[in-house]
Amino acid sequence: MLLGVHCSVSGGLEKAFDEAGKLDIDTFQIFTRNQRQWKAKPISDDESRTFKSAFKSSKVKIAFSHASYLINLASNKDDLLQKSIDAMIAELERCDALGLSYVVVHPGAAKDLEEKVALDNVAKSIQHIIKATPDNKVKILIENTAGQGTALGYDFKHLGKIIELVKSERLAACFDTCHAFAAGYDISNKAIFEKTFNEWDKSVGLSKLKVIHLNDSKTSLGSRVDRHAHIGQGNIGTEAFKLIIKNFNDVPKVLETPKEDNMDEENLKILKALA
Ligand SMILES: [Zn+2]
Ligand SMILES: [Zn+2]
Repeated sequence: MLLGVHCSVSGGLEKAFDEAGKLDIDTFQIFTRNQRQWKAKPISDDESRTFKSAFKSSKVKIAFSHASYLINLASNKDDLLQKSIDAMIAELERCDALGLSYVVVHPGAAKDLEEKVALDNVAKSIQHIIKATPDNKVKILIENTAGQGTALGYDFKHLGKIIELVKSERLAACFDTCHAFAAGYDISNKAIFEKTFNEWDKSVGLSKLKVIHLNDSKTSLGSRVDRHAHIGQGNIGTEAFKLIIKNFNDVPKVLETPKEDNMDEENLKILKALA
């Protein structure tokens, strides 16, 4: 059912497959680099070979990365924008060298810009990134956000607007349950769940939904504060997760919840039982 977690790569990128094997999962997300630093090395031929051979001998069907949190593709500061674009290009190259399918990225922060202008900037940045990597097969997935501070992407229409402006098959989207709930989309019961995904379909398109992040929310509906909770321990409740697994069987779904005390195992057990 394409259910997995965000895997750790401490000790080497290929270590993600050890964790995947232990958890018996068929999909995962990783950071291909330190997500809180700008500096990152390109993938060496050796790393690429090791990773791809581990991939081949694993049960993992699809794997993808999450881009650095420092990236802001909406920025009107030349220096930060250039660094963000360069970091995304480098990330696409790393993902390609590893055989990853997608890179998930947050749309960015408007800061002192009007949202409309900021969204235009994001679209221009992504167009530039796609043009600069013509032979790259990795898709860019923009993720919905909780809308903390001036973060774009809390409204599905933001993602829709960016996709509409970029007009590329290489751009699609990622849905995060916690972010949607914190942004005010109630997915806690069946009727509202349907309404939320109708809205997603209208604004973004269900065909553009390539990855789902399964996180419960410590904060309340519409709080605009992003705090991931273990499945069933937050304010979303288990019904939404049951419906998502049922309705999006073919979409890779990964947990991004704290890993202490073998909680990945616990959360996966709950999700599998719900399915
Ligand atoms: Zn994210
Ligand atoms: Zn997420």
